[in-house]
Amino acid sequence: MKHYKLLIPGPVDAEDAVLAQMAKPILPHYGTEWVELYHQTINYLKQVFQTENDLFLLVGPGTAALDMAFGSLLAPGEKALILSNGFFGDRLVSIARACGIETTVLSSPLGQIIDPQRLRAYLRSDSDIRALALVHHETSTGVLNPLAEIAAVARERGVPIILDAVSSLGGVPLPVDEWGIDLCITVANKCLAAPPGLAPISVSPRAWEIIDRNTATHGWYLNLKTWRKYADMWAGFHPYPTTLPTNNILALRASLRCILDSELETWYARHRKAADRVRRGLEELGFEMFAPDEHASPLTTAVKAHPEFEVGDLIQFLKEKHGLLVSGGIAELAGKIFRVGHMGKAASREYTDALLGGVADFIQHRDLF
Ligand SMILES: *Cc1c(COP(=O)(O)O)cnc(C)c1O
Repeated sequence: MKHYKLLIPGPVDAEDAVLAQMAKPILPHYGTEWVELYHQTINYLKQVFQTENDLFLLVGPGTAALDMAFGSLLAPGEKALILSNGFFGDRLVSIARACGIETTVLSSPLGQIIDPQRLRAYLRSDSDIRALALVHHETSTGVLNPLAEIAAVARERGVPIILDAVSSLGGVPLPVDEWGIDLCITVANKCLAAPPGLAPISVSPRAWEIIDRNTATHGWYLNLKTWRKYADMWAGFHPYPTTLPTNNILALRASLRCILDSELETWYARHRKAADRVRRGLEELGFEMFAPDEHASPLTTAVKAHPEFEVGDLIQFLKEKHGLLVSGGIAELAGKIFRVGHMGKAASREYTDALLGGVADFIQHRDLF
């Protein structure tokens, strides 16, 4: 399969130094030398999460860690409030329900943020809510929810938070401890710019208290109690329950080192600059943005379909003539928007210039194809 430049909202293109780790000979996932590399990786992750909470490196997609978070924290029949303004918010509802959790959903329209005042009013009216879950960056619309304000409202009511930070952590400020995020989930292959396969999850002391009171079992592997047990019991030798993909962890470690060396603020700014170049450049080419600037994340830009042509034709053209991959809309936004990611190498000038050049080429020459 040909490699296209990835300007999709994940997975993202990783730097060569990160990819090189994937080609190294296989290391066993246990023993003191490996465990030192593993702990370094956890330590780098804690710096990016800005947390002193426990942090585990689950093997699997982000969805596995979300499943683990819901099932470990809540027992079947307990009630969670889910805030949704898009596909990934709705996905949280499906995951929670599949764990037997009762869900109440506060929805906001696609392209708009979740309003913290509505949350405050809702939480006052319902004292049965045992946890709040939401998506930080709703990747399906490019909207960044006002997490600091939402978390403050949850704190007022003492409601623990499960956060899907799959496409935001590492890309925008998200001080987990300062904002009081109890269970924070991300993946290696979005803002952390490493290959897919790993899902870091942090767990606050308050989350542990609730998990310890939860007597319902949620399987074995996707259960935070299992991961804590092995972190304690086999600490120096094998502090996790199963085999780990050591090359993936080395690659993530290399990318984290690079992020921390550049300093978090610089790494965040890189995304802001890329998003700005793409948004302004596409506007100059006659496109309208789906989310207004004040709610748009610097990590994914959703762009409204142009009235004069089909989104699918543009996506196809960029792929075939320019070797660039961008995404279409999901679910009810299919055909109505396209999405450009700004994570990983997509934040580079090389990639944003290639995208704007490709779109300009399409606008000029589309009649010829
Ligand atoms: C990509 C994404 C997911 C899904 O992640 P997987 O690793 O495929 O499970 C979940 N939530 C958000 C916000 C995402 O962007």
